[in-house]
Amino acid sequence: MSVAGTEGTLDHLLKNLGRSGTSDRFRLVCLLSLEGSVLKCSPATLERAGLAPSDVVGRPFWTTMWWDASPDAGEEVRHAVLRAAEGGFVRCDVPSRVEKNAPHTVLLDLTVARLRGEDGAFTCLLVEARDVSEGRLAEEAIARLTAESETQRRLYEAIVSSTPDFVYVFDRDHRFVFANDALLKMWGKTREEALGKNCLELGYEPWHAEMHDREIEETVSSRRAIRGEVPFNGTGGRRIYEYIFVPVVAASGEVELITGTTRDVTDRKTTEEELRRVNQDLEQFAYSASHDLKEPLRTVKIYSELLVARYRERLDGKALDFLDNVRTGADRMEALVRDLLAYTQTSRLEKPGEPADAMAALQAALANLEAAITESGGVVEAGALPYVTVHATQLQSLFQNLIGNALKYRRPEAAPVVSISARRQDSFWLFCVADNGIGIQPEFREQIFGLFKRLHTKDEYSGTGIGLAICKRIVERYHGRIWVGSEADEGCRFYFTLPG
Ligand code: ADP
Repeated sequence: MSVAGTEGTLDHLLKNLGRSGTSDRFRLVCLLSLEGSVLKCSPATLERAGLAPSDVVGRPFWTTMWWDASPDAGEEVRHAVLRAAEGGFVRCDVPSRVEKNAPHTVLLDLTVARLRGEDGAFTCLLVEARDVSEGRLAEEAIARLTAESETQRRLYEAIVSSTPDFVYVFDRDHRFVFANDALLKMWGKTREEALGKNCLELGYEPWHAEMHDREIEETVSSRRAIRGEVPFNGTGGRRIYEYIFVPVVAASGEVELITGTTRDVTDRKTTEEELRRVNQDLEQFAYSASHDLKEPLRTVKIYSELLVARYRERLDGKALDFLDNVRTGADRMEALVRDLLAYTQTSRLEKPGEPADAMAALQAALANLEAAITESGGVVEAGALPYVTVHATQLQSLFQNLIGNALKYRRPEAAPVVSISARRQDSFWLFCVADNGIGIQPEFREQIFGLFKRLHTKDEYSGTGIGLAICKRIVERYHGRIWVGSEADEGCRFYFTLPG
């Protein structure tokens, strides 16, 4: 078969076309006879396929390259070549291994075209193929993503239309551009009637509409979410709603829309209010009870002491023992009443106006603990301490309880060493009161902060089980946290945070 006259041009073409250009993707360029046997193949194609010209020249094209990637690939190539020889131009996708032991198949976009010789008659076929796997993968990925985002859209739609909350969207002119079914139902309007209107046009009271107008503007200018609460008198009586407006920022950086969600929180608010009232009542009761118990308790103590002082001679040993038990019981009850009163009083103090000096509070606590420090032979050391926005007496009470415990729960063989330190943690200060005492097993670290929770009997260590509950109450009142880290026999580290 002759391709005379066109040889030079074709050789040049083959040389250049066979190169892969900047990418290392496979490119195949071959000249075939009209019967489909290989006349020439671009050197770059052969090199990449790991074939020599003698492996391919003179053989049917569909038996030469690595078409065995799929069972039908060779057959498909044969059809394409023969169809092109008859009818002109054929294009198809064929999987191929590209080279002999290639681990992956690639997808080749194969075109076969008839070429004319100088006399105008068709003389040969030009086959060209490019690896288009990546493009196809990208197309597949796009198709998958589109399908996923469609599923997501449907999912959002289902959520938004089934939630009892009101979900809506404002445009920059404060008009509703979207309202979910729950909101439309509350308005008693169809989507067509409602959309495009602002709050006032939808029958909101003027103060309510103005408030939302202000908040929409604030959402736009601050580009931050705005939350609020609003009472609403509807057909079901007075309800309380909580809402949040969130800006939707476009690619240009401008706030384009404002989404809103409103939730009916009437039931939650009512329950919270009831709980607060019950708590207040209980606290009042505990306060009065512990306060009123002091008086009869004093009477019991005074009269049992009088009995011993005045009638000691007339009482036998057993009666004196009994009276001793009465006095110990009364002492213990006095301690309980005192601590309980302190516990109920933690929430009675007004919030402080001025920050308190933690070092001064610590000094005051240490002065009260002087006897315990001397008696235990303990050492209390402190680093620099900050000012915190807490009532000075409550800060003192915190230190007193924690250091008092550190001295009390000491190991018999070692004098107590207590260290107090503080470091900044965001807008809070993190305090640490560390000791070298008996420690607390991990499983008890939560429960010791409960009221009356003790890990020891009163004969082992005196106490009422109220001290740490007071500490917790104080710290939480200022939105702080208190916890303990400890390994048994390695002492305790009590941590608490307070606003600075
Ligand atoms: P109380 O000391 O009056 O028993 P607290 O509420 O102060 O009550 O403490 C609760 C319990 O926590 C204590 O009974 C004790 O078992 C444990 N505890 C508290 N502080 C320490 C400490 N520094 N080391 C070991 N155990 C402690």
